[in-house]
Amino acid sequence: MVIKGGTFGPVATNTYVVFEEPGGEALVIDPAAGSEKWVLHTLESNGLTPAAVLATHGHWDHVVECHLWDARGVPVWAGTGDEDWMRAPAPFNPALFGNPPPTPGVELARVLHEGDVVELGALRLRMMHTPGHSPGCYVAWEETHGEAIVGDLVFAQGIGRTDFPGSSHHHMLRSLQRVFDELPKQTRIYPGHGPWGVTIEDAEPWARMFM
Ligand SMILES: [Zn+2]
Repeated sequence: MVIKGGTFGPVATNTYVVFEEPGGEALVIDPAAGSEKWVLHTLESNGLTPAAVLATHGHWDHVVECHLWDARGVPVWAGTGDEDWMRAPAPFNPALFGNPPPTPGVELARVLHEGDVVELGALRLRMMHTPGHSPGCYVAWEETHGEAIVGDLVFAQGIGRTDFPGSSHHHMLRSLQRVFDELPKQTRIYPGHGPWGVTIEDAEPWARMFM
């Protein structure tokens, strides 16, 4: 399993390209503002075909380039809960995003639910619904390889904000506790912001400072 990461846009959002091995299919996770060229290069240099774009949640910085992939015929997938923001991406925090021109939305080709498994070659990414930062936040966990794409649930040294429209600190605490309970300690995490590849065990004490 290979996870390539890059960081793009006004709030340094991580975009990932996930694949089993070069020459196969890939998932593009959270296409951030200005990520398209890097994603294309990563696909091309590894001989990959994009199977789908997967958004960890519907916040503007994570979905702003979904429409570019949709226009190329690549299906866009996301978990249920943030469909409204997928259809009409909303940069609802001008302090963070300024006032960009309207971002075209997409119709989801697949709406994922708790427990769904996304297959990519021999990889099996299990979707865990982890609301709090937004209603439709999901973790995509590959148990066999010990990797988890965690969106803005938990960072290497902190947790996602819960002061946005639709956020819930109460749900956030439950979701954090769940991943700390369920993911084996050595699972490497790939968050929506900041460093990736640290273990959930190393991230947990930092997250606990906000719980
Ligand atoms: Zn977010």
